[in-house]
Amino acid sequence: MKVIRTVADMGEEALAIIRSSKSYGFVPTMGALHEGHVSLIRRAANENDIVAVSIFVNPTQFNENDDFEKYPRNIEADLALAEEAGADIVFNPEPEDMFSDKRDTLVMPNKLTNHLCGLSRGKGHFIGVCTVVSKLFNIIRPEKAYFGQKDAQQALIIQRMVHDLNFPVKIEICPIIREDDGLALSSRNVRIPENMRHEALSLSRALTHGKALIEDGATNAPEVINAMCEKVIEAGDVEIDYIDIVSTETLEDVAEIDDLVLLAGAIKVGGVRLIDNMLAAPAGK
Ligand code: AMP
Repeated sequence: MKVIRTVADMGEEALAIIRSSKSYGFVPTMGALHEGHVSLIRRAANENDIVAVSIFVNPTQFNENDDFEKYPRNIEADLALAEEAGADIVFNPEPEDMFSDKRDTLVMPNKLTNHLCGLSRGKGHFIGVCTVVSKLFNIIRPEKAYFGQKDAQQALIIQRMVHDLNFPVKIEICPIIREDDGLALSSRNVRIPENMRHEALSLSRALTHGKALIEDGATNAPEVINAMCEKVIEAGDVEIDYIDIVSTETLEDVAEIDDLVLLAGAIKVGGVRLIDNMLAAPAGK
């Protein structure tokens, strides 16, 4: 496995791969790799001759400097995991190489950011994501890129961006990997205080409860949202950022559930922000 640390070297490598006509997949990550990332890399390795993984904690998508500073980093363990999962290249650039002081161009998603994390983290978050992903696509030049359903809004926004701006890359969305107890894997999980596991689990429990209610015939979205919020509140010391039921296409709030919907939530446990989501549809849909 090659480890490439500059934009210029990655550009040369990308050109050589494209000229070799090999199939070429890409998995963008912010590192602190876990089985969720590994599942994306494995799938990319199954479907492509060459797999590039980027490890880059993107400073432009954090609105609190604190959160950026505290974001877990573990490059040596990451390289071992990426190689084991089937990566051929890890691209691990320095922030100064990715973002010059003179930069003046941003990629701005619009309506899809008016919901869920776009509201709680601010519009700047997804501008940061779209700008860095555009740059990574241009530097790495993959045919396919793999994203997790874990970040459902991000995946939808990237799919929209690729379509709207005609990026020549196919986006593949991969299922959420969870711990046995249901907690969605996240790089942030290492920061959850040990005695707050129960609180952290309240989000996946609430979403599972909401999904079951919908599958059992509940159609009133505000009622199902209330039931999910209660599950989280029951757990005790948890701050709810949002718990919502939205359209899978527009992310707009749904009032009456008569088709597939996205149940999505974000909570804070012991100062750590956790997100999760599940799809649900009424029986027969
Ligand atoms: P991150 O390093 O958090 O930016 O995540 C990199 C990619 O891994 C994103 O496409 C995430 O959606 C995906 N990912 C993160 N956690 C999981 C998980 N538990 N299951 C599946 N994919 C995940």
